[in-house]
Amino acid sequence: MENTRQVILKPGREKSVLLHHPWIFSGAVATTSGDIAGGDTVRIISSRKEVLGLAAYSPASAIRARLWSWNEEEQIDRSFFVKRLQAAIERRKVSVPADETDACRLVYAESDGLPGLIIDRYGKYLVFQFLAAGAEAWRSDIVEIAMEITGCAGAYERSDVEVRQLEGLLPRTGVLAGDFPEGLVKIIENGLPFMVDIRQGQKTGFYIDQRRNRQRIRELAGGREVLNCFCYSGGFSIYAWAGRAANVLSIDSSGEAIALGKLNARLNNFNDSDDKWLEGDVFSLLRALRDQARTFDMVILDPPKFAPTAAQVERAARGYKDINLLAMKLLKPGGLLATFSCSGGISLELFHKIVAGSALDAGVDARVIEILTQGPDHPVALNFPEGAYLKGLICQIN
Ligand code: SAH
Repeated sequence: MENTRQVILKPGREKSVLLHHPWIFSGAVATTSGDIAGGDTVRIISSRKEVLGLAAYSPASAIRARLWSWNEEEQIDRSFFVKRLQAAIERRKVSVPADETDACRLVYAESDGLPGLIIDRYGKYLVFQFLAAGAEAWRSDIVEIAMEITGCAGAYERSDVEVRQLEGLLPRTGVLAGDFPEGLVKIIENGLPFMVDIRQGQKTGFYIDQRRNRQRIRELAGGREVLNCFCYSGGFSIYAWAGRAANVLSIDSSGEAIALGKLNARLNNFNDSDDKWLEGDVFSLLRALRDQARTFDMVILDPPKFAPTAAQVERAARGYKDINLLAMKLLKPGGLLATFSCSGGISLELFHKIVAGSALDAGVDARVIEILTQGPDHPVALNFPEGAYLKGLICQIN
């Protein structure tokens, strides 16, 4: 049956689609035709009536449509999702060696040609996020197909994220398929076991995007007094202990995170004592440590997104500047600062400038010795630079 559902673009607004950028903003749409509901597949038509591709329609969102395909002959049906999911999962076999981890992002939305869909694997369980109307419309097929391809034992949904609101979708969590444990799920990353709270934890349970950067910290931590700020469930802390750090002090404002961090420390036979795991605000604890004249050989700063949207960039920049300045003041000569930003709105270049400002104000001479990014299971499609969000600098202080 001919698909008469169409989105017709304004003159000149086809350019990004021709470059295979997957987003159509509401301002680019001249008109629509046919009876279109959220998540329906529509044909994208230029002002000159050329068919540019097939997309999922999101009536509530400023991103009015997301392209599934630039080939108008393609059928957006169950077999389309079989192909896309198989391809995404196949890619990880190359980018993430099996002995590296059993927790990995299998589908990274637009970057895997599946806009609005996240699938993370934690051992024998899958965790799903449906973040856009199109992915939502195909939810049950997607779950069935992914379970079949991976042979996983159970699946859980963590679509409790704010971006769903922008799509006019309500938050949703719960068991999606199979048997899903009530409690924590164990994973092994680079040989280190971690307990992950998929049901209640942050994101889908663990910051798997930082896996390779954690391994780098392990390699650099030997003999160092380490301060891990924004430690969540202890990722960087456990790796630093594993790398034979002299000592590791971990800070997070969430009591649940600290409890899980201590649990992970016990699981790895590392120190879980209260004086190594502080619940509190990093901004004030960094000042307190400075006032106590404490010093460290390595400080890790992995804060939450200070700039979820472009509008918050300026405030976010001040936040990054403050914590980096305070951290630099705590570092001994020769110390290392591993500093991250996961705000999509802050580019690597801007982040570099902010950290340079911190060094200037802290009165330290520092140089970048490494630039870090998100793991290869969070790939960045060349047609979708927005997929890059995590940036990190390892700076050496004189
Ligand atoms: N590095 C971690 C992930 C950090 S996520 C890992 O590899 O797993 C950011 C963390 O910062 C969250 O755990 C959150 O609870 C914590 N957080 C947010 N604001 C904070 C603040 N002002 N002070 C301390 N921790 C904070």
